[in-house]
Amino acid sequence: MSFVRIATIPLAVSSVFLLFGCGQGENKPEQTKDKPAPTAAAKSDETKHAGWWCDEHGIPEAECSMCSPKVAAAFKKKGDWCDKHDRAKSQCFLCDPKLKEKYAARYRAKYGKEPPPIEE
Ligand SMILES: [Zn+2]
Ligand SMILES: [Zn+2]
Repeated sequence: MSFVRIATIPLAVSSVFLLFGCGQGENKPEQTKDKPAPTAAAKSDETKHAGWWCDEHGIPEAECSMCSPKVAAAFKKKGDWCDKHDRAKSQCFLCDPKLKEKYAARYRAKYGKEPPPIEE
């Protein structure tokens, strides 16, 4: 009887649909507004140097042209850029070691101690 064979097809199709349709059904359109923004991390700024100081480059994180593409773009715009070392010219300790001292002085002014050694 051929109609029996036909009758099984919708069943197979619907189970396939169930398998694949499952994940898509959960996909609600653009309704993730209520996601809470991460608020912590700013707290320890004053006590620990995490957050303010870039240990790696010896520059305040917010000004570090090596860590922040946004900062880097701003320096490039000003024409303050070292192509050779891929960082702001005014932050290139490789070209001008005196700059390192300039930033170190800011660290000392804030924390009253020497900045951590730069890992480069
Ligand atoms: Zn950095
Ligand atoms: Zn340089």
